Amino acid sequence: MASTSSNKSRCATCGKNIGTFTCRGCSQDFCLSHAQEHRQLLGKQMDEDVILMHDQFQQCLNEQVKQPSLHPLMKEINEWEKQSIEKIQLVAQVARQKVLNIISKHTDNVIIALTSIKEQLSRARDDDDFFESDINEWKENLEKLKTDLNTPKAITIKFDDKMNSFIPKISVHKERPITERFERFLGDIQIEENGQLITHGNSNAHATVRGKGEYSSGQRLFRFKIENKRTS
Ligand SMILES: [Zn+2]
Ligand SMILES: [Zn+2]
Repeated sequence: MASTSSNKSRCATCGKNIGTFTCRGCSQDFCLSHAQEHRQLLGKQMDEDVILMHDQFQQCLNEQVKQPSLHPLMKEINEWEKQSIEKIQLVAQVARQKVLNIISKHTDNVIIALTSIKEQLSRARDDDDFFESDINEWKENLEKLKTDLNTPKAITIKFDDKMNSFIPKISVHKERPITERFERFLGDIQIEENGQLITHGNSNAHATVRGKGEYSSGQRLFRFKIENKRTS
């Protein structure tokens, strides 16, 4: 690598043109002592940069082998799992709260209905005024209240699978109670007690009455009680 004195180049470190060596890696010229220094520098770079990088990577690899579950792809799956569960928990919490709210109001209604039955029972007992049909009706009403308390018809749970998603979204719906009442009539009829009672007049003429509700589908059950029926 030494060149003749006539075409000696200057050392890249000290600028002197003595005994020049050329580094094939970086094409710089150096004097003997600085050529050695340049090699040492390269050796240091090798240790500090490449070996260090290698060691760090080796350590990563060892950890990977030891704990494959820490792979970045596994972390991605874990993150998806966590976020999905959080979303579901949020929707479930909203649904639970809604059911609790409806149930609380619904229970109040059941309490009112039960109190009313209790009053009817006490009155009937005091007056000793009841028959088999009354007993059956009370039993039926109590049975209905019991069923309604446990499985209220007022609440429905729906699963929305319109999006054809992997997990259908749950939602809670409160059915609006329909309190049917008489509204329109034709003929000798009077509507009383806020549409709960109709009375036919003294005439024998036919009369018609219709309820407030209008229905286009489903099945409805209406109960009437005919009192003071007169035959003529
Ligand atoms: Zn070099
Ligand atoms: Zn030099």
